[in-house]
Amino acid sequence: MSKPILIVGGGPSGLAAAHSAASVGQKVVLIEKMDRLGGAPILSGYSKLVPSGEWAKDAIGSMVDRVENNKLITVHKDTKVTEFSGKPGNFKAKLSSGKSVNAGATILCTGFTHFDSINKPEWGFGTYPDVVTTTQVEQMISSGKGVRRPSNGEKPKRVAILLCVGSRDRQIGREWCSKICCSVSAKMGMEIREELPDCHVYIYYMDIRTYGLYEDIYWKSQEEFKVKYIKARIAEVTSDGDKVIVKGEDTLVKRPITIPFDMVVHAIGMDPNVDNMLISDIFGVDLHNWGYIAKENTYGIMGATSREGVFVAGAAIGPETIDDSIAQGTAAAMSALASLSPAIAAE
Ligand SMILES: Cc1cc2nc3c(=O)[nH]c(=O)nc-3n(C[C@H](O)[C@H](O)[C@H](O)COP(=O)(O)OP(=O)(O)OC[C@H]3O[C@@H](n4cnc5c(N)ncnc54)[C@H](O)[C@@H]3O)c2cc1C
Ligand code: SF4
Repeated sequence: MSKPILIVGGGPSGLAAAHSAASVGQKVVLIEKMDRLGGAPILSGYSKLVPSGEWAKDAIGSMVDRVENNKLITVHKDTKVTEFSGKPGNFKAKLSSGKSVNAGATILCTGFTHFDSINKPEWGFGTYPDVVTTTQVEQMISSGKGVRRPSNGEKPKRVAILLCVGSRDRQIGREWCSKICCSVSAKMGMEIREELPDCHVYIYYMDIRTYGLYEDIYWKSQEEFKVKYIKARIAEVTSDGDKVIVKGEDTLVKRPITIPFDMVVHAIGMDPNVDNMLISDIFGVDLHNWGYIAKENTYGIMGATSREGVFVAGAAIGPETIDDSIAQGTAAAMSALASLSPAIAAE
């Protein structure tokens, strides 16, 4: 039997990679820096996922159970890799716990960091309590408490969701589209309307990118749930002491618009993992110029990085959906297994 595959990061991509490798009899060591597996959907308390409509705790929770109950997979939580050396088939990783692991190959599934809306101060987050993020609303729904105004605990009657916060914004160095926030916002609009049928939900957009089959969520949100869409450029979010006021320009009719709301939600994007400089240094892999972990090529070995024997999957590579992160985790496990096959043959 070859040495285990080392997987760093226990989110959807890392869980899929671990399960896939173990399902063909390969030993796996999974390193997670937090005290729980599940990645962003569990750690940030997402509610229902797009496109499946399943609760995150059930869908990703079952992936966690499958990994934690697999005897071929050893999980180290609250742990990081501090040193990494060796070559394909024979790597050595030192862990923050003081232990060390020998591994034949490694897969980096270290994911992303949520955009911090403090970096977009003119849109009111951190200044007005009723300006919140999509992750905060996901938590209000998944906790069962429901969507409430943080300032006074009341049910909002008018909610605005602002798209592309921390994405497609060159002024703050975030040029990328975060891929999933249009669909998540359309879903959130429906969740709010379902819980609070008297609440009007407006989505402010530059473009709607509910690509492929996700377009279904866009139409459903308008036709069945009466979520309203405003194509606009937002200038600023202010407050009159009670309402939060969104000022901008309706870019379809080219007129200034100023509308008061009870709550404003930032649809935050997916930044590169804040640890990526360190991860790049420790594992000796190149970064993309935007700060994600760089893929070596697109059409050759799936998940290859600049270092042979070290692979990457999921949102570590760039903004990604859960479905695609899972697919990439499985593909990277295949690449890692293939890289071990000369070692297996030699034994
Ligand atoms: C508000 C919001 C809602 C979303 N909702 C949906 C949705 O409904 N459907 C959908 O398809 N996608 C959704 N997404 C996208 C989804 O979060 C990602 O596709 C998914 O989390 C990517 O999985 P991952 O495993 O690659 O990364 P992550 O989920 O980020 O997991 C990475 C894991 O690695 C760990 N880690 C990081 N660095 C280290 C390190 N140095 N050492 C050890 N461990 C480390 C982290 O703690 C984490 O557990 C949403 C995104 C946002 C922002
Ligand atoms: S998915 Fe939509 S909200 Fe997210 S960055 Fe792309 S266009 Fe903006």
